[in-house]
Amino acid sequence: MEDLFHVPDEPIEFDAVLVPLRDIVVFPRTSTPLFMEEALLDAVQNLAEEDLDVVAVAQRDEEIDTPTPDDIFQIGTGIEPMHMLRLPEGGVSVMVQGLWRVRIKEFLPERDGLMIARVESIPEPEVENTQNVRALVRLAHSLYEKYVALRDLPEDLFNLAYNIAEPGWLADFIASSIDLSVHDRQHLLELLDPLDRLQRVNVLLSSELELLELQDRLHHQVQEEMDKTQREYFLREQLRIIQRELGERDPFIGEAEELRQRIMESPMPEMVREKALKELRRLEAMPPVVPEVGIIRTYLDWLLDLPWGEPPPEEIDLKKAAKVLDQNHYALQKAKERILEYLAVRQLAGSKMPSPILCFVGPPGTGKTSLGRSIAEALGRRFVRVSLGGVRDEAEIRGHRRTYIGAMPGRIIQGMRNAGVVNPVFMLDEIDKLGYDFRGDPASALLEVLDPEQNREYSDHYLEVPYDLSNVFFITTANVLHTIPPALLDRMEIIEFPGYTEDEKVAIAMNFLIPRQKEAHGLERYKVRISEKAVRRIIREYTSEAGVRNLERAIASIFRKLARRYAEGEHPLRLVTDRRLPHWLGPPQYTFGVAEREDEVGVATGVAVTEAGGDLLSIEVSVMPGKGNLTLTGQLGEVMQESAQAALTYARAHAEELGIEIDDFDKIDIHIHVPEGAIPKDGPSAGITMATALVSALTGRKVACDVAMTGEITLRGRVLPIGGLKEKALAAHRAGLKTLLIPKGNEKDLVDIPNNVRRRLNIVLVERMEQVLDRALRPPESDEEDEAVELAHDL
Ligand code: ADP
Repeated sequence: MEDLFHVPDEPIEFDAVLVPLRDIVVFPRTSTPLFMEEALLDAVQNLAEEDLDVVAVAQRDEEIDTPTPDDIFQIGTGIEPMHMLRLPEGGVSVMVQGLWRVRIKEFLPERDGLMIARVESIPEPEVENTQNVRALVRLAHSLYEKYVALRDLPEDLFNLAYNIAEPGWLADFIASSIDLSVHDRQHLLELLDPLDRLQRVNVLLSSELELLELQDRLHHQVQEEMDKTQREYFLREQLRIIQRELGERDPFIGEAEELRQRIMESPMPEMVREKALKELRRLEAMPPVVPEVGIIRTYLDWLLDLPWGEPPPEEIDLKKAAKVLDQNHYALQKAKERILEYLAVRQLAGSKMPSPILCFVGPPGTGKTSLGRSIAEALGRRFVRVSLGGVRDEAEIRGHRRTYIGAMPGRIIQGMRNAGVVNPVFMLDEIDKLGYDFRGDPASALLEVLDPEQNREYSDHYLEVPYDLSNVFFITTANVLHTIPPALLDRMEIIEFPGYTEDEKVAIAMNFLIPRQKEAHGLERYKVRISEKAVRRIIREYTSEAGVRNLERAIASIFRKLARRYAEGEHPLRLVTDRRLPHWLGPPQYTFGVAEREDEVGVATGVAVTEAGGDLLSIEVSVMPGKGNLTLTGQLGEVMQESAQAALTYARAHAEELGIEIDDFDKIDIHIHVPEGAIPKDGPSAGITMATALVSALTGRKVACDVAMTGEITLRGRVLPIGGLKEKALAAHRAGLKTLLIPKGNEKDLVDIPNNVRRRLNIVLVERMEQVLDRALRPPESDEEDEAVELAHDL
């Protein structure tokens, strides 16, 4: 042995096979276990039997599987295998004895897939035994003693170290037995000066010790804390026992027991019950004072309050359902029929058939919400409603994780708790007003809610357990379709609520709104009535809407005033007539018809679909001397700007036939304005209106003020079909216009327009711009024409 440890005084060169080491460094004069694959060991042994020594050398990167010369360090250790142990899981643990440091001088060709190199031994310099050296050695001894004690290592290790006085050897010995990174170890191996090496070991040892001491201190602190809580726990237990002995009920135990019972009795799925019981056990193990207790209690309350399980068997009575629907709502045939069809299918196919997801689209006050309620009544289910308007944060739909303070489930789960049953009619209002920002996209959470494939296991962040939404009948509502994300739109069946005609409104008021408001105001006993004529006047002069919301408000306001009279003992008139309306409602707010409108040059009336239903859209054009600029104002969308360009191109191309006497369009500026910030949402359908206003401005011919129009224009003056015809026709009718010009391509949609509207509104189908101008422009007047001609001459 002693021989083995003797490091040659002069470098000697020899050839060696290299054993690359991944996460360890072998130090001279120490023994180290190395793990090797069997194949590698065999190869090394074969080569060693031939003529080669063996050198262990660390890899620079332990991740590399087959290292090349570039991947290993230049200084390694000559080794001598001592004995080995075959491991049951494969591979061999070889105990090797480190001999001396060696330096790789030159790589030789590989053999058997192993790196071979010419290496030379590195002599270990002599160290004089000075006081300084002795002090360094003693310090190392005492640090190592502490380390062994703190780490609970075998004491023999220290005894061995204590007997090594040679600084270099001591350093190597300590380095091989303490926790160090490969980097630190290799650095020590490369420190050739023994004193430097021992010094470095001392530094590493003391920082390691510091860490260990700190850990030890922390450990003690934790222990103390634990002792404290345990003491408290014991005291409380004792208190409980004493209370029980005294016959007092322990509030905490009572509560926990009660919770357990409720959990056991709840119809929740087993998986949820397990989760609830687990949380309850956590709760019981906690001292009642920590804040966590409240959080867990609230969570358990949520699990217990939510409806779970299967819905009760349905009794479907189609006749009754139809009656309920008709009882509460006038018209709305499409929606009512869809519900009855659904019920019929349910009756035949049972509950296997997933519920449709309906989307009610239309302006405010057209009965979307109240029909939803009535559907619930017809189906014999509960109704809940959650508004999505302005929701931008996914967590509002899906909840916050419990780790957040004040965390709550999202709106869907809240809605389910309010419903209290697993199969409510669940209305998601304003799905067109969803926002999204950096906090995630609420639409994607809704996708999961509205997907019958996924909503059986809907996940809410707060709840942590899946919740089954598959028995819910979802209805969403929206004012417009175009802001609804397409993926969501795909999931839903659209049912349109386009708004009511005047006659429909009168019928709704007489049959539904008036009786309902009368009852709500406690006036059934009195024989008060509002005449049909009065209702018509309210519609014409006190409201301007597609729905009946303001109409209902006006009626409520009349009844409120009446109720007050009765309550004060007066006996007011029993009949509210149209003539007395200003007495009840104040002066009229809208004028019906177009009496005070006048034919004008450069102003044409279009109709557009907006959030509030159909609306008039007036377009103004003025022409002045300039440089050929086209200015558009009134916050026009891109498509509308393109329509304006198309209209202008049409006018220029047909200038002669149209009687435009301007020969140089580069010498005029054209300004197109759409007042009242009316941001038309329907894109191209204002095309022919722009062209009409433009031609009027360019020719000086007046536009007939009782004509409205809608249609897209092509560069060649063809008129293309548009959407939302019914809303537009209703708007034109509501405003008392006489004629509506619509594209021939929309002829098929005429069936949607109620007969009474068609009787009063002259709807004209047009295919070409010339037909539009024929109808919309007045014949040239002499003086106006002169003006236009003058303008033309000025240019
Ligand atoms: P929306 O949800 O479309 O804004 P609401 O459902 O709130 O409209 O309707 C406003 C009011 O008008 C409600 O009192 C509703 O009952 C009534 N209403 C709307 N349409 C009808 C109808 N077709 N028949 C009877 N009442 C109606």
